[in-house]
Amino acid sequence: MLFFATQTHAQHNALDNIGSWPPTAALSFALLPYVRSAYNALYDYVWAEKERKWLREILPRSGAEQGGDAGAGDQAQPADVADDEDDNIFELRVDGDFLEDWGEAGGNDEIEGGEPVPQMIWGMGQDNGDQEAPPLDAPPLADAAPPQEQPAAPPPPPHVHQERRLTISTTHLAETVLGALLFPTISATMGELLRLALPTSWTTPALASWTLRAGSRPGKATGILQERWGRSIVGGCLFVVLKDAVMLYVRWKMAMGHRKRKVLDYDKRKGRVVRRLASHDDSFDPRQQERETDEVDVCIVGGGPAGLSAAIKLKQLANEAGNEDFRVLLLEKAGELGDHIVSGNVVEPSALKELIPDWNDENNPNRFENATPATHDKLRFLTKKGSFPMPAPPQMNNHGNYIISLNQFVKWLGERAEEVGVEVYPGFAASEVLYTPDGSVKGVATNDLGVSRAGKPKDNFERGMEFHARVTLLAEGCHGSLTKQVTKKYDLRRDSQPQTYALGIKEVWEVQPEKFQKGLVVHSMGYPLPSNTYGGGWMYHFGENLVSLGLVVGLDYPNPWLAPYGEFQKMKHHPLYSSVLEGGKCISYGARTLNEGGFQSIPKCSFPGGALIGDTAGFLNVPKIKGTHTAMRSGMLAAEAAYTALAGNNEGTIFLFDYEDKLRNSSIWRELKQVRNMRPSFHTPLGLYGGILYSGLEAYFLRGKAPWTLKHHGTDAAATKTADQCQKIEYPKPDGKISFDILTSVSRTGTNHEEDQPCHLQVKDWDKHAAIAYPKYKGIENRFCPAGVYEYVEDASKDLGVRFQINAQNCVHCKTCDIKVPTQDINWATPQGGEGPKYTMT
Ligand SMILES: Cc1cc2nc3c(=O)[nH]c(=O)nc-3n(C[C@H](O)[C@H](O)[C@H](O)COP(=O)(O)OP(=O)(O)OC[C@H]3O[C@@H](n4cnc5c(N)ncnc54)[C@H](O)[C@@H]3O)c2cc1C
Ligand code: SF4
Repeated sequence: MLFFATQTHAQHNALDNIGSWPPTAALSFALLPYVRSAYNALYDYVWAEKERKWLREILPRSGAEQGGDAGAGDQAQPADVADDEDDNIFELRVDGDFLEDWGEAGGNDEIEGGEPVPQMIWGMGQDNGDQEAPPLDAPPLADAAPPQEQPAAPPPPPHVHQERRLTISTTHLAETVLGALLFPTISATMGELLRLALPTSWTTPALASWTLRAGSRPGKATGILQERWGRSIVGGCLFVVLKDAVMLYVRWKMAMGHRKRKVLDYDKRKGRVVRRLASHDDSFDPRQQERETDEVDVCIVGGGPAGLSAAIKLKQLANEAGNEDFRVLLLEKAGELGDHIVSGNVVEPSALKELIPDWNDENNPNRFENATPATHDKLRFLTKKGSFPMPAPPQMNNHGNYIISLNQFVKWLGERAEEVGVEVYPGFAASEVLYTPDGSVKGVATNDLGVSRAGKPKDNFERGMEFHARVTLLAEGCHGSLTKQVTKKYDLRRDSQPQTYALGIKEVWEVQPEKFQKGLVVHSMGYPLPSNTYGGGWMYHFGENLVSLGLVVGLDYPNPWLAPYGEFQKMKHHPLYSSVLEGGKCISYGARTLNEGGFQSIPKCSFPGGALIGDTAGFLNVPKIKGTHTAMRSGMLAAEAAYTALAGNNEGTIFLFDYEDKLRNSSIWRELKQVRNMRPSFHTPLGLYGGILYSGLEAYFLRGKAPWTLKHHGTDAAATKTADQCQKIEYPKPDGKISFDILTSVSRTGTNHEEDQPCHLQVKDWDKHAAIAYPKYKGIENRFCPAGVYEYVEDASKDLGVRFQINAQNCVHCKTCDIKVPTQDINWATPQGGEGPKYTMT
């Protein structure tokens, strides 16, 4: 280095050149190998371990797919690739490091890291008698020692960086020569690009004298980029860094892809790709077929606000602790995140701000762009033709909140989850809870695909998968189907009152610009609902000329003749709504139940091996009509508790007691407790009017401090009276402009289910159900379902004169039937993953 450094124009004292800026070309070139070594060391320190991990994930799989036989299996190391290479070799072993920079062309070196080789040996691959060249992955030989005299050394661990092997085949030699010719060209080209891209003052020396315009000479270079050789060096270095970055990205991306694919098609035990085709044997029982299994740290069921917030928080905690291998997997039954989400939605951003502080920041390129600030609130009581204003309780003040489409928001949140490393699997419906022999939850299983209605395998049969996890979080939203199973098994409701529900039916309209008032939030009570039925309407103006409107109907309504869908169509004809909708266009429809039980109905939220989060536990604040912020916060609290519990416990069942404690000390508990008496106050004989009066008292004076807690009536199913006890309700025919028939609305949901599959609306005996339910409730199922799934079709062959029919392919997964059917013999189970509605903007 000293020699090069002193080869300079400086005549008097050559050593003066060291430390001067810019350095000379000779010194710069002399320093290059040291820069390269430092870069290699830094690269190894930061990336080598991760890169090897990604390669290990990729390599067995690529072998498996090509040959159908991953002989290397999980043990395959990257070095194995080299074994397969051309063995017709002319081997060149070089002592010294002049080829080091080009060594990466040898494939193996990328994995092994790069250090100088201590010897030079020439040999012929075919002449392998005594002088047989060691295999490509053999350890390096000591100086001047013939290879055969070396004791049989164990193969080096793949991570020993000091031992760089330069066994070069003819192919590699050619690559090396080509590389040596190419690299200067690449460096020069990169240097030229730098000259073009950077400001001229960086790349051109200032003129010797600014007064000498004509014939002026360039002055002395003041920076390395002002010399052509300097730009080439920097360009070459930049190229190496860029190339490494691209390679790392590609490997990471492939590893991520393979992680996902493993779940779908890779049998670890057999070490090959499998596809279980159906056996047409009549004795076939899908349950006898083995299921594939994946082991993760935390498995989350449900990709709504609760599940995604829990997943993001868990990965944030793990990444902060440098534990990037911590696996968080999220299953979502919808084909795409958000496809099954229906909500108002005016969101209170408190939890969101904590989870993703720059969620709405102008400077964040990945911010959520579709949030409309709520500007003013209106609450009106409707009579049949008119309306009058009501004072809005403080809970309904939306200052600082945002109007969003929750369906859009969840898609955005899903992208943020993937960014931090959550494995998100849409199209996977969890259908079964799995238990360990000691009775704790050990994960979930997804349902089988390709089973016929008669339970026989079809050509596309695929057995479901098992996902085993130390912690399973159920985030299924209101009235989850797995939640039902664990609630029963662990008796989670033993100290709480029954959960009560409402059905929300929603449409999104594009309205005429002159009727659009961006940020306006309108709520209504009264018409069209009868006074013995709790509920109300909403209309939110958001985005560009979009209006979200809908009706929430408490499912404890007594009259079986009432149809929530019919009430909603009626509501749209009220002048408060029709004046905005006329001339507009309905672009979307959806329906979903929501919890109304509140504080009194919160069950035990943790069970051995997991917990309930979000709406499936019932954290919706009814007077606010908001559950997004509580769902998100509960997910975050459960994530913190789960991460801490897993960090301190490597085996055995995890109990999330800490989650229960955190809930009790959280804002969720405080806000639900404060409004606990409002919803049950509507059960008095004064009905709607009694409830409004009492709620006003609570909102303005008692503020949740009353020493009593009102009780719920019991279940919504039990609240239903028989048809002959109630007045029949006739609904007007839809006009096709503002109101629509149910099938037109269903077509706007994009819902679909394959017909030839076991019915996911499980009724043990259809005839028996009809014989009990029809005489008493005269077809209530047909009226409570917002998608026209249930029908009583005239059929003279039946004793009742009607036949019960289920058009399961229309189901929009709202869960009303499971909750409201008075006979309680309809069980909503998950259909095949990826089926159901494909909502937009709901
Ligand atoms: C009509 C209506 C209006 C509302 N308005 C507002 C409002 O204005 N503001 C507000 O803050 N809140 C509102 N809410 C409440 C809010 O939407 C919920 O509180 C929130 O969505 C709950 O989030 P979650 O993640 O718990 O459940 P969800 O949002 O329901 O998400 C659950 C997810 O889990 C999936 N899933 C369920 N079961 C399975 C399974 N077995 N396997 C795989 N995936 C499964 C579902 O497909 C879904 O994607 C409203 C709700 C409704 C219905
Ligand atoms: S069948 Fe049940 S879950 Fe499906 S849309 Fe109708 S009421 Fe809702």
